[in-house]
Amino acid sequence: MVINPYLISFKDDNEKIFRERYFNDSLSQFRLSFIVVSILYAAFSFLDSLIINEYKTLFHFIRFAIVVPLLALVFLLSYCKCFKNVWQQLIFVCYIVGGLGITIMIIKAPENYIYYAGMMLIFAAGYFFITLRFIMATLAGWITLLLFNVAAHFFSAMTTEMIIGADFFFVSANLIGMFAAYNIEFYKRRDFFLNQQLDKQNIEISETNETLERKVKERTKEFFAAKEKAEESDRLKTAFLANMSHEIRTPMNGILGFTDLLNDPCFTGEEKQNFISIIQKSGQRMLNTVNDLIDISKIETGQMTLVFNQINILEKVHTLFYFFEPEAKEKGIELILNCNLAPEMGVIKTDTSKFDSILTNLIKNAIKYTDSGSVEVGCSRSLNTISFYIRDTGIGIPANRHQAIFKRFEQADINDKRAFEGSGLGLTIVKAYVEMLGGNIWLESEEGKGSTFYFTIKDDYYSGIEIQTTPQNNVRAEYNSSVKLKIIIAEDDEAGFQYLSALLKTVAGEIIRSKTGIETIKQVQENPDAKLILMDIKMPVMNGYDASKQIRSFNSKIIIIAQTAFSLLGDREKALNAGCNDYISKPIKKDDLLTIVNKYLNL
Ligand code: ADP
Repeated sequence: MVINPYLISFKDDNEKIFRERYFNDSLSQFRLSFIVVSILYAAFSFLDSLIINEYKTLFHFIRFAIVVPLLALVFLLSYCKCFKNVWQQLIFVCYIVGGLGITIMIIKAPENYIYYAGMMLIFAAGYFFITLRFIMATLAGWITLLLFNVAAHFFSAMTTEMIIGADFFFVSANLIGMFAAYNIEFYKRRDFFLNQQLDKQNIEISETNETLERKVKERTKEFFAAKEKAEESDRLKTAFLANMSHEIRTPMNGILGFTDLLNDPCFTGEEKQNFISIIQKSGQRMLNTVNDLIDISKIETGQMTLVFNQINILEKVHTLFYFFEPEAKEKGIELILNCNLAPEMGVIKTDTSKFDSILTNLIKNAIKYTDSGSVEVGCSRSLNTISFYIRDTGIGIPANRHQAIFKRFEQADINDKRAFEGSGLGLTIVKAYVEMLGGNIWLESEEGKGSTFYFTIKDDYYSGIEIQTTPQNNVRAEYNSSVKLKIIIAEDDEAGFQYLSALLKTVAGEIIRSKTGIETIKQVQENPDAKLILMDIKMPVMNGYDASKQIRSFNSKIIIIAQTAFSLLGDREKALNAGCNDYISKPIKKDDLLTIVNKYLNL
């Protein structure tokens, strides 16, 4: 506590606050004390009449004309606003005037001890009752005593002994009053200080509480968000497993079932041809699911890159339109094309495969979810934005699922009655691709009436990116070369080996098989005339990358073509870095393989 011990006041801003609070706390007591003191000052007039009749008029004048009216006036002033600023000074004046009144009474009737007692009451009231602060009370006490002494000395017939005798009592009363008043005020100030500290601590505590409460609320919110996320991901996991199980088992069922039937002699060749086409379709469906999964994982891990080509969207739309026409016809759905762009307006720079994938998915869905009516594909262009719509008269999508269907594994029908095939990944991929191409996707749909999916893409979106032109080679590769190659097939999987051997039948003179990287190296060493290795990447003991590296240390001529089923970004670069000449991903198509082989060995 920073307090001046002599003046008994705080050295800082607290003094102002303390005085303000002291005034507020003391006001009622001050008023009560002034009422009591006024009554007493008046009541003692009874003794004047009883004891000293000759000065009765003078004493009554002092009491009723001076002191009591002054006290009453100050009492009334206490109801004014400005009283707060001068209240101690006013009480101080009242003290002196009251004391002076008693002093006059003493010097007029020095032999009457009741007036000395009256002075003692003045001191007592001044120090303890009328709420004067210590300094003011002390000052008033000693001034009153001084006035008494001056008056007694110069204006009375009192003897020195009498004055000294009176002083003994008055000085003692002042000293006792001072000590007591000092202590009272000191402890009041200490209480004030401690209360203030307490208030501060309370404020700090309540602030800490508020912060804590806020944090608890935040944490609870985070907790619920995390819980929801966990539940959501659990739900998605279940949906994923259910979808995948369905999407793998269904075509698998077709493949295994019809493969079995191929061995059954009771079916005609024509029927068996039909089985083969079902097997192919089922295989394609499985491959689509796997491709979707790989695409989604590439998108989510940020590995999906853009390759820009210059294309004519009108040509693309027409190609897709004719591709889907038979399927639509089969379902009895009318396929309408509404792209009235001038041919030169259709030329844009975009990622062709992503653009294809967007349109294919949306048209495929429109046909899939429409039983009758029509599917309309439209496009328009404004500056560098190309807008498309795919409108169908199908089953529609409930409004509360319009957002959800763009999420992974989500289908509009949450209860998933599995009336339609699909992994619930198509629209997620579409949305990601549209955004990668600088556009937006949204839909309008009403249950039972149909849906319209809209999307935009930007032309020349990444103008800094160089255009890559992919050679469009649709010519079927037919290689019946007379050259018969010695080929090493590094493949641990039996079916994979058999399949490659069959594909290379027309160009292979001799096929050597190895099942590990080590074996492959050995075969290359033992067969220096081998021209080609089809190198599986994932093999036991030593993988294809390491084997290729080692082979390159002693044979730089042999053509190594890496083949992998991972189909992940970076596989090609890894293969080339390991020394392979090229890369092909599984499932391998005959034409693709022969084209690559031809590229290096001129069949
Ligand atoms: P799926 O493989 O299940 O078709 P998508 O991501 O392509 O996955 O679509 C998500 C869901 O959105 C679908 O399961 C279907 O419920 C709904 N949907 C998509 N397109 C249409 C459409 N044209 N009409 C009605 N529903 C659609």
